[in-house]
Amino acid sequence: MRKPVIAGNWKLFKKSSEAVDLVMGLAPLVKATAGVEIIVAPVFTVLTTVKQALAGSNIMLAAQDCFWEEEGAFTGEISPGMLADAGCSHVIIGHSERRQYFGETDATVNRKIKAALTAELSVLFCIGETLAERESEKTFEILRTQVTDGLAGLTKEQLGNIIVAYEPVWAIGTGKTATDEQAQEAHTFIRRLVAELFDHPTADAIRILYGGSVKPENIKGLMAQTDIDGALVGGASLKADSFAALVNFGK
Ligand code: PEP
Repeated sequence: MRKPVIAGNWKLFKKSSEAVDLVMGLAPLVKATAGVEIIVAPVFTVLTTVKQALAGSNIMLAAQDCFWEEEGAFTGEISPGMLADAGCSHVIIGHSERRQYFGETDATVNRKIKAALTAELSVLFCIGETLAERESEKTFEILRTQVTDGLAGLTKEQLGNIIVAYEPVWAIGTGKTATDEQAQEAHTFIRRLVAELFDHPTADAIRILYGGSVKPENIKGLMAQTDIDGALVGGASLKADSFAALVNFGK
C-alpha cells in the first residue's frame, strides 16, 4: 500500500504573515485526516516561521529547491543541510519552472537529489514534458531521459526517499489538467521504468504524484487511477479551503 501524498508548492507567494495565516487556517481543516502525507513548500525566508506555526500539526515542511554543495563560496545558494536545520523534511527538486527559467538540467537535478538525500531530506523529484514534446510524440522519450538521468547512481534503498511528481508542463498553472487516462498512462510508464532501472519492489513502493492544475473538482478522478499516489499542487495550495479539500479527497 502506498500512502498518498498531497503537497502544496507555494512558489513565489506568501510573505511571513500570509504564510502563517495560511497554515493556521489549514491545520484545523486537515488535523483529523489520517492516511495522507501533507506537505507545504513555502519560500526560503519563511521556512522557520512556518515550521513554528506547524508545531503539533500533521503537516510537513518542504523547500522548493536546494544547491548540491553543503557550504562554501556560492553566493545566493542554500544547502540541503541548511534546509534540514530550518525544519524541512522534504525538498522539491527539478520543478519545470526551475528547468525553464533557471537552467536546471537532468545533470544538476541529479547532483541536487544526491546532496538532499545525504542531508536526509526526502525529495519531490519533478519531471514532465512540454506541449511541443507531447505534440511531437516525444513524451515517453523525455520522461525516460529525465528519470534515467535524474536518478542515475542512486541505490534502491535511496529510492525509498524519493517521491516522483509527474507534471506535464502544459498543465502547470494553465487550468488545463491532463485527463485521468493521460496521467495514468504516464504514471504507468514511469513505474515500469523504475522497475527496469531498479527492481519491481522498488517500483511498487515508489509514490508518483500528478501535478498540473489539480483542483478540488478533478482530484477524485485522478486519485482513482491505480498509479496516481497523490498530487503536487500550485495554485490550489494557496488557499486553506481548496488545499484542505484536496487533502481530504477521500472524504
Ligand atoms: C506546480 O507548481 O507544481 C503546479 C502543479 O502548479 P498548478 O497546480 O498551479 O498547476
